[in-house]
Amino acid sequence: MTEPLDPALRPKTLTEYVGQERLKEKLGVYLQAAKGRKEALDHTLLFGPPGLGKTTLAHIIAHELGVNIRVTSGPAIEKPGDLAAILTNSLEEGDVLFIDEIHRLGRVAEEHLYPAMEDFKLDIVLGQGPAARTIELPLPRFTLVGATTRPGLITAPMRSRFGIMEHLEYYTPEEIGTNLLRDARLLGFGLDETAAIEIGARSRGTMRIAKRLLRRVRDYAEVAGESLIGLDRAMHALDKLGLDAAGLDDRDKKYLETLIHRFAGGPVGVDTLATAISEDALTLEDVYEPYLIQLGFIKRTPRGRVATAHAYDHLGLPVSGVDGD
Ligand code: ADP
Repeated sequence: MTEPLDPALRPKTLTEYVGQERLKEKLGVYLQAAKGRKEALDHTLLFGPPGLGKTTLAHIIAHELGVNIRVTSGPAIEKPGDLAAILTNSLEEGDVLFIDEIHRLGRVAEEHLYPAMEDFKLDIVLGQGPAARTIELPLPRFTLVGATTRPGLITAPMRSRFGIMEHLEYYTPEEIGTNLLRDARLLGFGLDETAAIEIGARSRGTMRIAKRLLRRVRDYAEVAGESLIGLDRAMHALDKLGLDAAGLDDRDKKYLETLIHRFAGGPVGVDTLATAISEDALTLEDVYEPYLIQLGFIKRTPRGRVATAHAYDHLGLPVSGVDGD
């Protein structure tokens, strides 16, 4: 997931951050109130599919508060010692600690995090066996910003320690278009508004995907000797990239076709479906399905995944016998 052009393009303030209007409005109030009281912001949990801007928002929170941010991830914190090192080494009063994929934090590390979040102290065990003793280390008041694609995997005790919990939404083609126009301006190339919106419409509502598509479309335009990316060029390049009008790529289509042709439209269990298309079930649940559900192409039912009439329609297949929506 390297994005070489990114650092300069990453929005730094809430105003530059496109879309997510309801979230921005609320967060704006919380930030202003915390600043007014000269307190750390409450611990904040951001959840939503990958690439919607959780990491970016964590950086913006720190920037808006005028504090530093420390970035780590659930899988990087294996032992309680890892957590202690992060919490005691570099955090200052009011700083933001960003833990990406917080649902992948180990159980022991998670239990050490509870007193750190609640009472701003860390219990450290020195020695082993009968001679072991616990010392209590005070910590600066910091803000934990956790990001997760899987809020269902956050344990109840962990969840209860977040004062702010916000869900990020998929972006509209227009919102994505606005951001792509900004990127094009900053990078110094021409992009027509209709082309920007077309890329937005085929990006699965996801900023990260849109930015990647913009770079590929720009490649096509440059090779064709065009200095301004117009709608025709964008559509041509997006077709070449295998993206259909709904933004589905070959893997999404394989998912739907397998569900429809091999499993008669379902219901079929996610593990069986995953095996049939040589993917792992987690990727299906985190990456493919949220967008297919958003489009109304599939449903998750207690008995498994089901293709809807919209999916048959989209693939140009007869819809007879399929449950309405
Ligand atoms: P996540 O942490 O949810 O996977 P990121 O924060 O890494 O997503 O965002 C992916 C890319 O999209 C980054 O390059 C980021 O700068 C950009 N981005 C995401 N959301 C927005 C937004 N609302 N406005 C502008 N750029 C955004």
